[in-house]
Amino acid sequence: MRKTGPSGRHRRRPSLLVRFGLLSFVMLLAVGVVLGRRLQKSAHDRTLGDAVHSAQIIAAVGIEPLLQPADLQRNFEPLAANRRTILDDALKSSVSNNGVVRLKVWNLQHWIVYSDNPKLVGRWFASEPNLEAAFAGRTVSDITDLSSAEELEERDFGTLLSVYVPLRVDAAGAFTNDPTARVVGAFEIYLPYKPIAAAITHDTRELYLELAVGLLILYLVLFRLVAGASRRLRKQATENAFQATHDALTGLPNRRMLNTVVADLLANQGETGFVAIALLDLDRFKEINDTLGHTRGDEVLCTVAARLSTHLEAACVARLGGDEFVVVVTNVADGHDALVLCDRIERLLEEQIEVGGVQICVRSSIGLAIAPEHGTDPDTLLQHADVAMYVAKRTGSTRRMYSADFDDYSPERLGLAAELRGAMAAGQITLLYQPKLEIGTCRILGVEALVRWQHPQRGTIMPADFLPVIENTELIGPLTWCVLDLALAQCAAWRRQGVDLVIAVNLSARTVSDPSLIDNIRVALARHDLPGRALEIELTESAVLGDHVHAQVALNMIRELGVTLAVDDFGTGYASISYLTTLPVDVLKIDRSFVANLFTDRKAAAVVQFTVDLAGRLGLEVVAEGVEDERTLAELARLGCDHAQGFLIAKPMHAEQLVGWMTRWYAATDQQVEVMSG
Ligand code: C2E
Ligand code: CA
Ligand code: CA
Repeated sequence: MRKTGPSGRHRRRPSLLVRFGLLSFVMLLAVGVVLGRRLQKSAHDRTLGDAVHSAQIIAAVGIEPLLQPADLQRNFEPLAANRRTILDDALKSSVSNNGVVRLKVWNLQHWIVYSDNPKLVGRWFASEPNLEAAFAGRTVSDITDLSSAEELEERDFGTLLSVYVPLRVDAAGAFTNDPTARVVGAFEIYLPYKPIAAAITHDTRELYLELAVGLLILYLVLFRLVAGASRRLRKQATENAFQATHDALTGLPNRRMLNTVVADLLANQGETGFVAIALLDLDRFKEINDTLGHTRGDEVLCTVAARLSTHLEAACVARLGGDEFVVVVTNVADGHDALVLCDRIERLLEEQIEVGGVQICVRSSIGLAIAPEHGTDPDTLLQHADVAMYVAKRTGSTRRMYSADFDDYSPERLGLAAELRGAMAAGQITLLYQPKLEIGTCRILGVEALVRWQHPQRGTIMPADFLPVIENTELIGPLTWCVLDLALAQCAAWRRQGVDLVIAVNLSARTVSDPSLIDNIRVALARHDLPGRALEIELTESAVLGDHVHAQVALNMIRELGVTLAVDDFGTGYASISYLTTLPVDVLKIDRSFVANLFTDRKAAAVVQFTVDLAGRLGLEVVAEGVEDERTLAELARLGCDHAQGFLIAKPMHAEQLVGWMTRWYAATDQQVEVMSG
């Protein structure tokens, strides 16, 4: 099944704003039409009402005073000629002023008693609903089409408005407006409809115009408000979407986005060739953070992110968090292509980075996984790349391609942390001891304690396989105290056998800032009845410098106990070495990487030479780690190095083996040691 990407081909829905615009327009239009209708009707009613009102006034003022109720008697009697003349004269002005076209006065028997048209006077017409309504007491109006017989005369006037007004008399026989009074006839008046219609049209048009302008302004204001809000919402939504899928520090896609991208690429793998994932973890980044501070550490991460994302033609460069980055490439033909990618990544990182005035060079361990061989979904691929990276770190190689054989090292290792506490109680934490040789005398003066976890199911677990996990947890404290106690117990046991050795214990950076450090050391020494000089503490530079002021106080106190302090892996840290003048250090341990390359790398040789010279000038001892052959040992001796440690002398061994080994050592080196003979 093929997925459509985010820009899928389905028809786009109109935006919310457009939908709102259309909908609100239609709604306002509907409101406009309904309101308009209402207003038009009220304009119509009002204008008609005006006309009816003027008819009532003409009836009340112009007709009724001049008529007598007797004029409306049952049988038609023509009015006396003089009274008609009076009526005609009186009405003439009213007729012409009000535009009245025709006037009729009816009695209840449908006789026209009076009209301004003499031809109609004295005529009888059949009943008609409007007239009956007036006889029933209601004033009614009608727009007539002049079809009734009685109006044949008025045909020339066009459309007319006819108004029928009831004529009432009171008990005294006088005309009255009292609506309860008896109706004795009706007054009918015709007005030309044209001006009325024109007035209605005019009014209506004005109302419509005002309404339209009002609604339009309302619409525009609403639209503007909603458009503004919608713009802000869209911006916010875009920002939220970005934040949800990107890393805040570097702006690179995060794990979530990476998953989506890889899933898309995998779905289209046919088109894009194989997909390869390179997961890289910066080496010793924690030390950069510890020695240079988190702000500088962040700068380094940003520089790495920028280099990776601008210089590689990758489908995606993401940050998983911490110092872990992922580079995804497509069109990979085989494993070789993937390794070429590693080369390019390494070259990018090789270039020095300047942070806070210090030039540093970052290295990384890279784990590779290629689809479909190593997985067909993003999770599996990432997990396998992680396993490969972890194996690369563990084996000290810079890169590894995933292999099913690695599954022993799988991220289950994370589960180890949970098991460790029980392991300590169950005595699964044990120590091996590696002798340190005094080069000038060939004597063994001390041993380094190296931790091992004897896991009931997994067998022996090396420190590199569980310490990195433990080091970031609270468990590192208990583990360190456990190792310290085991080491000192062993040291005391050897002493009781007459073997006097200084025992070196490694301390994690985190334990240096542990407030209980000094007390734990003091108590452990006392428990085993050992003097301080029986113990040597090995610390990496980052541990020494992590929190300089605090470290200085702690190290001084350790020193006061008589304990020796050694800087482990010397030369690999990123710090300036000025701390050597302020911190109470006794020993420098030259890192294995320099010693191992003494003859192959001139720079490594220079570091060894430099360290020996520096130590000489500062009055410190030097230990060379990782001495694996005679030639190296001879060269170290020539350079003036005091001590050596490494497989040439002995691999780390169990406590029980040590005394036997020492006996053989001294026999072989043809030396007699007092402790042995004594
Ligand atoms: P490290 O302190 O540098 O210890 C020396 C490591 O180098 C040991 O590895 C040792 O077996 C190995 N080694 C010694 N001589 C040679 C040699 O000639 N050639 C080679 N290739 N390797 C040699 P191990 O025992 O695996 O320990 C690894 C690291 O784990 C140690 O490095 C140390 O940093 C840490 N570690 C070991 N035990 C403890 C512990 O009890 N506490 C803490 N915090 N860290 C420990
Ligand atoms: Ca060490
Ligand atoms: Ca070391």
